[in-house]
Amino acid sequence: MSAQVDGNHYRILILGSGPAGLTAALYAARANLAPLVLEGNQPGGQLTITTEVENYPGFKDGIMGPELVDVMREQAQRFGTEVKYEEAVRVDLSRRPFVVESDEGRYACDALIAATGARAKLLGLEAESELMGYGVSACATCDGFFFKDKEVVVVGGGDSAMEEAIFLTRFCTKVTVVHRRDELRASKIMQERALKNDKIAWQWNKVVVDILGDRAGGVRAVRLEDVRSGEVSDYPCQGVFIAIGHQPNSAIFAGQLDMDEVGYVKVRHPSTYTSVPGVFACGDLMDPTYRQAVTAAGTGCQAAIDAERWLEAQEG
Ligand code: NAP
Repeated sequence: MSAQVDGNHYRILILGSGPAGLTAALYAARANLAPLVLEGNQPGGQLTITTEVENYPGFKDGIMGPELVDVMREQAQRFGTEVKYEEAVRVDLSRRPFVVESDEGRYACDALIAATGARAKLLGLEAESELMGYGVSACATCDGFFFKDKEVVVVGGGDSAMEEAIFLTRFCTKVTVVHRRDELRASKIMQERALKNDKIAWQWNKVVVDILGDRAGGVRAVRLEDVRSGEVSDYPCQGVFIAIGHQPNSAIFAGQLDMDEVGYVKVRHPSTYTSVPGVFACGDLMDPTYRQAVTAAGTGCQAAIDAERWLEAQEG
């Protein structure tokens, strides 16, 4: 059987074009499966909203996020991956071949690799999107290093916020946690660690209503509103880390793939098998824990190998 069975029928179709999807594509292409990647509406995924990536092995001087994605895409294309800038809007996984409908076409596939990623929840402020990558970040592991000897704010009261705040104290002179209540959601152990860290300051019962700064000069302050008194004040800082949780991009699979209560697709560890035979999940879509480009690439590789072996078993 040829890899592309007929016009719109592929042996492997990959949804998503971050490091998970593109690594899956690379491996599937090198296995001669000529995969189709539907990139989604944010080609490259979360890497495209980071600036410099310094922790992806192989790039000793770092690489810009969008450039890393471009290199990965070209590498996958070199071996026969077809990439379309289309957003999948519907999937039917109830029978094989699976059917994927995009905003522009309809495709059938024998195996599907779901790599649609996740997104950091954001506050929804205009300044937040304007300054993302210019003083505002949703990932301390990625960007903390750029805030050496600076004062930063972390927004949130869960484990992520505590973890990011503690991590940032390695670089920053002062880290202020802004939380909308007077009680943390984080686990006791994380709370204790953060509360006893004397580089961490606290702004309780406050919400960030604006971020002051510009792309040229970075962040100058956050505008805080006291949720009890309504009082508004500006709090000087040079960086803002939003740590109010992540949301996997799994809505398209709702009711078809097993997920946890947040919406992360469940896989049969240590494999990438989902609850539907022939559908494999990788990257942040199934990983609430590590969420790194390199771990996403790793599970993308696993998904391609799982899919290839599964296809072989079906045909054998
Ligand atoms: P989370 O537990 O849902 O906490 C989100 C925090 O952000 C909450 O404190 C919430 O406030 C606040 N928040 C949400 N929306 C907000 C908004 N619009 N404005 C202001 N604040 C807002 O998310 P998470 O911290 O990312 O953790 C997710 C899961 O991963 C949890 O199960 C956590 O235990 C786990 N995790 C574990 C570790 C670890 O153990 N090392 C590290 C990271 C994450 P409220 O409290 O008022 O709702």
